[in-house]
Amino acid sequence: MKNNVIILGSTGSIGVNTLEVLSIHKELFEVFALAANSSVDSLLEQCKKFKPKYAHINKEEDAKFLTTSLKKFKIKTEILFGKDTLNKLVSLEEVDTVVCAISGSAGLESSLNAVQSGKKILLANKESLVMCGSLFMDLAEEYNSIILPVDSEHNALHQCFASNSTKSIEKIILTASGGPFLESNINELKNVTPEQALNHPTWSMGKKISIDSATMMNKGLEIIEAMYLFKLEISQIDTLIHPQSLIHSMVCYKDGSVIMQASKNDMKIPISYCLGWPKRISSGIEPIDLTKQSSLNFFEVSKDKFPCFYLAKQVGAEGESFPTAMNAANEIAVQAFLEEKIKFTDIFKIIFEVLEKHHKKKLSSVEDVYEVDKKSRENAIKQIKKIN
Ligand code: NDP
Ligand code: MG
Repeated sequence: MKNNVIILGSTGSIGVNTLEVLSIHKELFEVFALAANSSVDSLLEQCKKFKPKYAHINKEEDAKFLTTSLKKFKIKTEILFGKDTLNKLVSLEEVDTVVCAISGSAGLESSLNAVQSGKKILLANKESLVMCGSLFMDLAEEYNSIILPVDSEHNALHQCFASNSTKSIEKIILTASGGPFLESNINELKNVTPEQALNHPTWSMGKKISIDSATMMNKGLEIIEAMYLFKLEISQIDTLIHPQSLIHSMVCYKDGSVIMQASKNDMKIPISYCLGWPKRISSGIEPIDLTKQSSLNFFEVSKDKFPCFYLAKQVGAEGESFPTAMNAANEIAVQAFLEEKIKFTDIFKIIFEVLEKHHKKKLSSVEDVYEVDKKSRENAIKQIKKIN
């Protein structure tokens, strides 16, 4: 029996890479359903190529356009729209694997739905864990949902843990490329443009995560992601800048051994690992040739240049509603920077101000999470207005 896969965010960077891996394993997987927000043309092309049983798009008018267009090509994909329909689609019995690759907090609801339907989840949407990591992991346990991390660092760690229990871990080290401004002078950061910030040196990704990489908030989010995913203390999670992006993370064991995972920096590798797990399947990517590799460097993250990273570490240590508030403020600030309403260095200031005013709350339900998210967004918008 083939494994039925649904890709949430199929038109994005992770979605497209997942489809590429699936297309080399047609005997193992069925592209059961695809979902996107508004990229009608890309979704149409994907439906023509992969002929999924269902495709989902948010707006009704886009759904109508897709239905009419597909009829012309005699493709029988059923086009769906609306939030509730997406949730129903994710929880269908026929669905085996859900790839959660929607970007940002918009991905939380469908990820939670997939967890509560007991699916095998390929989790790219790190924001789900940052927003409500404890709840998310508790639900996964309750509903027997397997969570496999697509994020390359966490995927590397998943590979390094292998047969060892997480109890014998001394600490883990997440590597970070350092983003496009690693070599920039701190005074230059104020005037960088979205175009410069989107120009990541080693990875090609969606806009939001690219800006997060430039501020290094991405690594901060990933520390929190790792804390919840692997049930570790923040003090057990270190970060090293490694500009070559060849070692994707490492685990330091009590006996002094350090296990690292290395590969080319192509997301098809972690995606294949998750799709095939517990077996290994081909990703279509060649292994690294160490004889052709320049020397590898590792160093600490600069406090002055990357304040978002250190703020996120503190937020992770605070826990409860703090990561949720930070995630919301970050999303609003990143969007404002992309729209050129604020400067690059204002991203940190806005998040900092929102967190200064935040009162820690216990997150007992998903409703609590959404409440903190909403309030923090409103506060971030107020801060942006103050700047302008
Ligand atoms: P992209 O911006 O490239 O793609 C986002 C996808 O989500 C698109 O398909 C988009 O649809 C869809 N989407 C956005 N909002 C909604 C919504 N409200 N409802 C339904 N679909 C929606 O992002 P990435 O692929 O880069 O990242 C996806 C996630 O994976 C993020 O959480 C990111 O942090 C994480 N990740 C990404 C990595 C990468 O290499 N790209 C690495 C590690 C983690 P549309 O095209 O219609 O807008
Ligand atoms: Mg990552």
